[in-house]
Amino acid sequence: MFAELFSVLTVAGETMIKIVPVTIGLGIVFALLSQWSACNPGQVWWKKREIVTDVLYWFLIPLMARFVRIGLMVMGAAYIYGIHGTEALVNFYDDGFGPLARLPLWAQALTFVVLSDLALYWFHRLYHGAHMWKYHAVHHSSEELDWISAARFHPVNILFGTVIVDVALLLAGISPNVMLWVGPFTTAHSAFVHANLNWTLGPLKYVIAGPVFHRWHHTAADRGGSKNFAGTFPIWDILFGTWYMPARQLPDAYGVDDKAFPEGFGAQMLYPFKQ
Ligand SMILES: [Zn+2]
Ligand SMILES: [Zn+2]
Repeated sequence: MFAELFSVLTVAGETMIKIVPVTIGLGIVFALLSQWSACNPGQVWWKKREIVTDVLYWFLIPLMARFVRIGLMVMGAAYIYGIHGTEALVNFYDDGFGPLARLPLWAQALTFVVLSDLALYWFHRLYHGAHMWKYHAVHHSSEELDWISAARFHPVNILFGTVIVDVALLLAGISPNVMLWVGPFTTAHSAFVHANLNWTLGPLKYVIAGPVFHRWHHTAADRGGSKNFAGTFPIWDILFGTWYMPARQLPDAYGVDDKAFPEGFGAQMLYPFKQ
């Protein structure tokens, strides 16, 4: 019992140690960049109204995602492949398995990023539908949108979304070692697309999601709010008819329609269950 508790605390501690320097680095970089090329001038991330809420999400969501991901990987290996026990599990996941694991690691990482982005595009559209919106509204509730808002997701949205897609791809045989590249990329890129920057990315706007592209997604539904669902590759929005980047315009108002939307972390956790 003590051993289990100790290992849980160790994993939690390791996760925190990784997040702190990354957070400081991102905070400095985006504070400087927003000075020079803000999308919405006058907004400073550490002075935003719901900074405590966003910081709580920033630290707690990766921790929760990590534990749930490990739990689902253990269950998936047991139910699908009949693998039980710590040593057997470690060997099983060690470097992937099957045809996908025979690709070079960079190709596996690319496959992982492209397939997960396509799956998450459709998850995202599902969350904008009437039944699932209450879980996703939490992500859209930030009115002073900035990089630190990137982790503001209800746990249901994370579990039935990123986590389940990650686990499905690892259970398909992709090596967990791709996470060494994919993990830092996803963290940095999701912070980047939420940052207060007026960067359209020029011709690259068709290739990779940038701040203006994703900030439009956080505007009202009759503007960009029901467009730009792609997390990483805007090609999905172009292919499925949801791409939105009006020329010479920048997004300027964010948040949800509900003026009484709770601002605190705890109240936002309960929000979907009270609807
Ligand atoms: Zn959305
Ligand atoms: Zn967002």
